[in-house]
Amino acid sequence: SGKWARTLAILKEFEEKCGTPISKLKQVADAMTVEMHAGLASEGGSKLKMIISYVDNLPTGWDVSVVEHCHILISELFVLGIKHDEKGLFYALDLGGTNFRVLRVQLGGKESRVVKQEFEEVSIPPHLMTGSSDALFDYIASALAKFVATESEGLHVSPGRQRELGFTFSFPVRQTSISSGTLIKWTKGFSIDDTVGQDVVGELTKAMERVGLDMRVAALVNDTIGTLAGGRYNNPDVVAAVILGTGTNAAYVERAHAIPKWHGLLPKSGDMVINMEWGNFRSSHLPLTEYDQELDADSLNPGEQIFEKMISGMYLGEIVRRVLYKMAEEAEFFGDTVPPKLKIPFILRTPHMSAMHHDTSPDLKVVATKLKDILEISNTSLKMRKVIVELCDIVATRGARLSAAGIVGILKKLGRDIVKDGEKLKSVVALDGGLYEHYTKFRTCMENTLTELLGDEVSDNIVIEHSNDGSGIGATLLAACHSQYI
Ligand code: ADP
Ligand code: MG
Repeated sequence: SGKWARTLAILKEFEEKCGTPISKLKQVADAMTVEMHAGLASEGGSKLKMIISYVDNLPTGWDVSVVEHCHILISELFVLGIKHDEKGLFYALDLGGTNFRVLRVQLGGKESRVVKQEFEEVSIPPHLMTGSSDALFDYIASALAKFVATESEGLHVSPGRQRELGFTFSFPVRQTSISSGTLIKWTKGFSIDDTVGQDVVGELTKAMERVGLDMRVAALVNDTIGTLAGGRYNNPDVVAAVILGTGTNAAYVERAHAIPKWHGLLPKSGDMVINMEWGNFRSSHLPLTEYDQELDADSLNPGEQIFEKMISGMYLGEIVRRVLYKMAEEAEFFGDTVPPKLKIPFILRTPHMSAMHHDTSPDLKVVATKLKDILEISNTSLKMRKVIVELCDIVATRGARLSAAGIVGILKKLGRDIVKDGEKLKSVVALDGGLYEHYTKFRTCMENTLTELLGDEVSDNIVIEHSNDGSGIGATLLAACHSQYI
């Protein structure tokens, strides 16, 4: 019928607008490299903030030993454990999306590294994501206090010693020291005005005092930096870290002399860790559709985080919902009325989308079940369910291929996208985040696209490594490195 033809036309048009042929991905990768240069050249020089991790904010007068200390952090993290044989229990708090995690990690010597770890995951009630700063941090501090209270025989701090915490905070922060930084803006569904411009460690510390928890924040870490640090702890060839979770971001090791906006001492290692905040990347080469534009306009942060809104876990399901809504409205895809649930923003989460996308049953019963459970839509035909799987595929494929292009942009910046005179320089990229970890088709597509973009010869030297909880481990490592007891 005409309605079915209209549905297919909407799908087809969407697919065309989402197209990511290799030529386009190369333009995206090039644009990423260009923006990286611009962001490193001057403050505010690009949509990419290219934040120099705390090392850039050494107050004048910091002595060489501090620089050396940071150098140790960046390039020789793995030796750290040696110093912590007896007193190696550290806490980490990981706040990055809808959940936060509290961890305690026993760091061992060089051989044993992470001896033992325990963690707990706590969800954040949605009203706290847009409420007041005190309410959010009180909630986090009390969850942390409860976790601390469960310290057992095997895993506890030495008597009389203050507990120390690495705080992984995965939002854009202007770092002012290793253990302080001001929030530039919220992303990923958070919007709490009174935190912006505040020191987030100060906010957490005050909340810990309010709930009676005696703990010192030894390090404030972005999740990408934590993943990079944690990745390096295990593998010195790690050059970059990428997070694909609720949001997306990347960090990498830059040569200090390639950072024109850096006016401080050159670290001995010559290296500097950069938090790109690539979620805010934007380029005319990005295949933006009307649905993306509307999603952006209706978001808590219009005009910002455009790359993130095309790629990351918070948004993929929502893009699918928006296209389905259009099909329902303009082509009566689900009958002559629009199913009421389909009107609710963010009701279709990316894990649901992923489950439908991976449905291998001949009659697509997972799709049928999800439609019924989430959207209260029943009586769908197999033909309709196939359209929905196709839609999931279009959205996931675009996100995965753009992620690959972003990684190529970083490798290009480092000159590691080519083989130099047969030199076998290995580059490892540490990947983490729920989207990468659980959305198999997304991950596979991203990895295949990377090979497609780099070619077989270069790809042989590029390794994508899942850094399982690198960010939590990284935060504890950084806390250990800045412990008051060491
Ligand atoms: P965060 O990014 O919030 O720190 P995670 O790295 O755990 O936390 O990522 C969580 C995100 O990963 C979820 O918001 C969701 O978008 C995505 N995700 C989790 N599970 C799945 C899944 N099974 N399929 C697809 N995406 C998933
Ligand atoms: Mg995270």
